[in-house]
Amino acid sequence: MVFDALAIGAHADDVELGCGGTLINLTDKGYLVAIADLTEALLATRGDAETRVKENTVAAEIMGVRERFQLGFKEGSIATGANNLIELTSLIRKTKPYILFAPYWEDRHPDHVDASKLIQSAAFWSGIAKFGDNQPPHRPHRIFYYFTHWEGPVSLSVDISAAFDRKLKAIRSYRSQFSPHLGNERMTYISRPEFLEKLISRARYFGSKTGVEYGEPFFLRDMNRIEDAMAWAGEQGVIG
Ligand SMILES: [Zn+2]
Repeated sequence: MVFDALAIGAHADDVELGCGGTLINLTDKGYLVAIADLTEALLATRGDAETRVKENTVAAEIMGVRERFQLGFKEGSIATGANNLIELTSLIRKTKPYILFAPYWEDRHPDHVDASKLIQSAAFWSGIAKFGDNQPPHRPHRIFYYFTHWEGPVSLSVDISAAFDRKLKAIRSYRSQFSPHLGNERMTYISRPEFLEKLISRARYFGSKTGVEYGEPFFLRDMNRIEDAMAWAGEQGVIG
């Protein structure tokens, strides 16, 4: 099946946190979106594999995502797993996405750093016919880098105001990860209430920088081209 966009994360909730609002915007407009989770996040402090699959299926439904691929790479070995590059290249050829979403390459979590580099490599090699499997080559047009824990330089902010409630709902469907109190499970960095508050504040901040309620920031390596400065300025509105 051919998809308009493929959003790739190291762990199941990365995509929801980093670009969930933008994915909802796309599915609202009728674009076909898929997610690929590189690992099963078995090393997470809370929740087992079965629980996480149930949670990430619900999250995908909330976002209108058609398919969620699990590549089953080992955490800590995303960059070094022998077949990881070939498998990801193969998925890109199979799904033929026009755009990719990937984590930014500087982050607190080493898996996010490794995932970013692997995705960039796979996006290149998937366009080289003699590399990897026998599927026809395919190269995505652009990679949108999203941010998880740390932020880097920002190229643009997507207006996610209409999607923001559903983004939060998708994140909250990962009950094992984000519920502050869950039986005897211990509190983690991401289950503290401050974590979601930080996420909301970040969205408000990037929204305010672009004259809307909530925004989701991205970095693009490529420069953007405009033709009509007047039309472009009109689309941006008065930011104040
Ligand atoms: Zn992660």
